[in-house]
Amino acid sequence: MDLLEYQGKQFFASYGIPVSDGEATSSVDEAVAIADRIGYPVVVKAQVHTGGRGKAGGVKLAADAEECRTHATNILGLDIKGHIVEIIWVERASDIAEEYYASFTLDRSAKKYLGMLSAEGGVEIEAVAEENPDAIARIHVDPVEGLSEEACRAWVAAANLNPQATEGAVDILMKLYTAYVDGDADLVEINPLILKPTGEVHALDAKVSLDGNAIYEHPDYAQYDATQPRDEREEAANEKGLQYVGLEGSVGVIANGAGLAMSTVDVVNQVGGKPANFLDIGGGANADVMAGALEVINNDPEVKSILINIFGGITRGEEVANGILEAMKRVTIDAPIVIRLDGTNATEGRAILEPELDDKLMMEPTMLDAARRAVELAQG
Ligand code: GDP
Ligand code: MN
Repeated sequence: MDLLEYQGKQFFASYGIPVSDGEATSSVDEAVAIADRIGYPVVVKAQVHTGGRGKAGGVKLAADAEECRTHATNILGLDIKGHIVEIIWVERASDIAEEYYASFTLDRSAKKYLGMLSAEGGVEIEAVAEENPDAIARIHVDPVEGLSEEACRAWVAAANLNPQATEGAVDILMKLYTAYVDGDADLVEINPLILKPTGEVHALDAKVSLDGNAIYEHPDYAQYDATQPRDEREEAANEKGLQYVGLEGSVGVIANGAGLAMSTVDVVNQVGGKPANFLDIGGGANADVMAGALEVINNDPEVKSILINIFGGITRGEEVANGILEAMKRVTIDAPIVIRLDGTNATEGRAILEPELDDKLMMEPTMLDAARRAVELAQG
């Protein structure tokens, strides 16, 4: 669950990390009213689930009400990498002496948390990692031992921040670690973490991703639901009780079992195609489930072909074949379907499908052949 910047700042503030005073709104008039309350200069900031807002014109300083109105008008409705701005955050502007980078995330291969701190903040950390990897000080934290202040101090020293920033940085990083662990976050990132000319250290941006599997432990996270990006396809599939994940491609995928569904997505990629989704219909490939799956996939305008990959286990091939044919009677499918049917009673199942095959319903003997055919159809 990815938070918008202002939600991330509220999350940080609840752990005592200093952030700027501000308020979120969707209205230009309200933005000016907020700015009048806070006092000028202010920063008007686009709230979208993507970074690089500054470069895209989504972060603007306003010296007075007139400028605030102009920026709010321009930023609301702005398209930032495909995200339309519906909410803006107006905060008191800060004076910046230096911009740093700080984050905690999980390093799966090390089985430890990874903290990253750099004196080169404000820019994309990926660029720093590529061009000047030594500019990033890393610390691995054992989840059982936690982060000691001593280790945190050594980490800050290794990052070569301005000595003026040391105390403020240690304080914020200790709090950021607590927020990361106690808040069940997958990622907490401050970019930039700023040193003000007055010597204070302060979070000027917030990127927070919360662990979706821990939400039940945090009833207050329900407040973030309304602003989560929604995938209508996933919502329709969830209502039907299907295990569906929306992807960006053109080959609709239906498979039974999560492992086979993932392999199918991989094989579509392997033969040069792009899957439109992951969809696991589970064990019973009956007509109801198949019809529901086809309906969800058919409603995706990007889908140009459909790959049905079923390996019969407890479900027998003839049940699967009849399920597919019955489902096709109930739902009018626009895209051509390629079936691969194997496993228990595959021969019987294929015999049922054979007479129905045409240029809208095809069958291939192997998963690889079926994927190739589906990708060809999607591209042709
Ligand atoms: P991002 O581009 O999406 O990462 O948005 P940020 O919140 O990081 O803002 C981008 C840049 O705008 C920062 O790196 C700062 O240089 C600048 N900026 C943001 N807020 C302020 C502010 O209060 N004062 C000043 N002077 N610059 C700011
Ligand atoms: Mn930023």
